[in-house]
Amino acid sequence: MAIFPDSPGTHHEDLVRRDRTVLWHPFATLALWEREDPPVIASGKGVWLTDINGHRMLDGTASLWVNLLGHRHPALDRALISQTEHIAHSTFLGATHEAAITLAERLLGLAPAGLTRVFYSDNGSTAVEIAMKLAFLFQRSRRLRQGKKIPATFFSLERGYHGDTLGTVGAGGIERFHHLFGPLVRSSVTAPAPDCSRCPAGLIRTSCDLECADMAVRILETHQEDLVAALVEPLLQAAGGMIVWPSGYLGRLARACRDLDIPLIADEVATGFGRTGTLFACEQEGVSPDFMAVGKTLTGGYLPLAATLVRESVYETVREDPGTFYHGHSYTANPLACRVALATLDCLESEKLLAAIPEKRERIRKAWQPLESSPFAGNLRFIGLIAALDLHKADGSPLDDPAILSAIREKARRKGLLIRPLGATLYLIPPLSVSLEEAELMARILSDSLWEAHREGLFGKLP
Ligand SMILES: *Cc1c(COP(=O)(O)O)cnc(C)c1O
Repeated sequence: MAIFPDSPGTHHEDLVRRDRTVLWHPFATLALWEREDPPVIASGKGVWLTDINGHRMLDGTASLWVNLLGHRHPALDRALISQTEHIAHSTFLGATHEAAITLAERLLGLAPAGLTRVFYSDNGSTAVEIAMKLAFLFQRSRRLRQGKKIPATFFSLERGYHGDTLGTVGAGGIERFHHLFGPLVRSSVTAPAPDCSRCPAGLIRTSCDLECADMAVRILETHQEDLVAALVEPLLQAAGGMIVWPSGYLGRLARACRDLDIPLIADEVATGFGRTGTLFACEQEGVSPDFMAVGKTLTGGYLPLAATLVRESVYETVREDPGTFYHGHSYTANPLACRVALATLDCLESEKLLAAIPEKRERIRKAWQPLESSPFAGNLRFIGLIAALDLHKADGSPLDDPAILSAIREKARRKGLLIRPLGATLYLIPPLSVSLEEAELMARILSDSLWEAHREGLFGKLP
């Protein structure tokens, strides 16, 4: 069913043709994208998306990790509409409004202890970039006072992802995304990602002593004087391939930062608001970062809004010198987005979504169990409601052939599930509002698509 069935040029084929003529999509390999037949999304309800032909698909990526409560949530719709009856936007430079104030109070009340100030922006990259710039101003003032050298390097992790602005690209560690921009950015000093499936120290989790954390701590010690801050994605490096950290790593890293007096920036843009099972990932290891960036799910996936939460000592230091933070965006603290964010926090609480995560995760885990012994998938991992696996060839090397992955994506889509692999990593991030049945259905469709691809010989000669 087309949205406007009578008007010319709004059928699926017409729209795809027009799209190809004028648009440039993010993270798209252009020559491949030009041959794809993308879904043209017309509407959504709950965890379901409907394309322009009326074909329904489960939103297996939560619209790329942003959707928390499902599409067209009545309370979020109401919050948005009622704010439009007052004002859509006015500047936050030299003026304020109630929604931004209340939301900041709510965020600080929920965030790890010690964070006392909120600086708004409109996407995850800018929220992290703001933390980086503020950490620099903070360190600059402190070091000038001490008569010491001003540091200008960040610590980050290999396979880390913090956004696409040049500052955050400099701290990025995903070769495929970031290496081309090398000449333009200031690179960080890095430690290996704590990925137990390819342990940087060549050990196994059951008998190791988190030697990966020791490696990171040694790098922090070596570069202590040059470091502006340590910037990490706590517990989960999502874009880097859904790398779930071994427990204890975050705590040890945070303790080292505290001992060495290196500010810690927690990039909770992907992990915030329940994705890892707790409201924030930092909570799980009792970590209070100096800066925390949130975005993505902050508005339940409705509107672009992000926030950088900061310690009072940073505010006080910058207040003394240089006095002004010359940074802001046209849509800083957009009232529509702030209202929807407040409604999102209300619903997250009233619908008791965090408590329901383990049971839903169990459904996915059960449906995926047979994959564990498959010849093509391994390293099944679960955190919060996120489930991920890696495809591999017979020799164990990653199976990341774009043509094969595209075929799997197409199979899943025909069965009613939209996914987006990260290289050889396939994952599900359902909105937290997913029902038990829908969670299981997502897992089943993905698993069925893989077994079908295997039967058809798509994975090559496997035992
Ligand atoms: C998505 C993401 C970002 C960037 O957020 P955008 O809103 O896409 O700019 C930053 N950090 C992490 C951990 C992310 O997952």
